[in-house]
Amino acid sequence: AKNNGKNTFNFFTQELNDTVKERLDIELALTKALSQDKLELYYQPKVDFHKQQLVGYEALLRWMDDDLGFVSPAKFIPIAEQSHLILEISDWVMENAIKFVSSLDNKVPVSINISARQFESGTCSETIELLIKKYNVDPNLVELEITESYLMADVEDAILQLHEMKQIGVQISIDDFGTGYSSLSYLKRFPVNTLKIDRSFIQDIPHDVNDVEITGAIIAMAKKLGLEVIAEGAETKEQIDFLQLNECYLVQGYFYSKPLPEHAARQWQFTNLK
Ligand code: C2E
Ligand code: CA
Ligand code: CA
Ligand code: CA
Repeated sequence: AKNNGKNTFNFFTQELNDTVKERLDIELALTKALSQDKLELYYQPKVDFHKQQLVGYEALLRWMDDDLGFVSPAKFIPIAEQSHLILEISDWVMENAIKFVSSLDNKVPVSINISARQFESGTCSETIELLIKKYNVDPNLVELEITESYLMADVEDAILQLHEMKQIGVQISIDDFGTGYSSLSYLKRFPVNTLKIDRSFIQDIPHDVNDVEITGAIIAMAKKLGLEVIAEGAETKEQIDFLQLNECYLVQGYFYSKPLPEHAARQWQFTNLK
């Protein structure tokens, strides 16, 4: 038992070194990927299953690295957030997503994930406005997804920024909703269009009683506030049935489609084969 402390220490330093090394590897490779234009945007369809229509897309980063293989954005975005890289990546995402909007035949909105740094910098609306003019797109066809936790980090600043964005005419959705502890009183002050229920609440429906309750409550609350509500990450018919029962008809999830490369996304249509 005496040696346990030391072993634990060695174990931790080794683990720490691995983490630091991995972070550096990813940071370096990401820098290279950016300069070589190796990042790609996939687009995941959002549907209204009641109307049986495609209602939009979410732009999602994909990175296949020559050495590291596929690296998930859930892994590299938080690493990029710790350096200037995130600003370059964010600019790249915005420009390419807006180019995609301008190239669509069917006019549906495309959502862009706003990074923490981008939001903190307070420059989102300026950047978006320039790009919307540059590509001559209807601002209504651009939706910004901002996580609940970024909004809650500095509520007063968030409200100001959201108003700036609204002024331009873009739509705003609160992403990962349910994970960030916002209270009703704040929610009423955020000028947003949509609440996006986080996948963590949807994935265990109908088996997890808490998740069933929480999701039902979020849907009811959104309706009371006059907001749209969309469920992220629905994979099963049971989940769709639950959402239908609760009159939440907007869904983004594997049940309908995974994120798709640009050309496939463009051709995607709602089919009634399910
Ligand atoms: P997010 O914004 O919450 O995006 C939704 C994630 O859920 C995506 O993961 C999507 O592929 C996944 N998803 C959607 N439906 C299903 C489903 O039915 N089942 C399962 N298992 N997953 C589903 P992805 O693409 O791996 O992205 C992970 C996170 O990385 C995103 O979470 C977002 O926080 C971040 N991210 C991705 N692209 C960007 C980007 O362009 N900019 C920024 N700042 N962050 C991004
Ligand atoms: Ca999102
Ligand atoms: Ca500003
Ligand atoms: Ca989420």
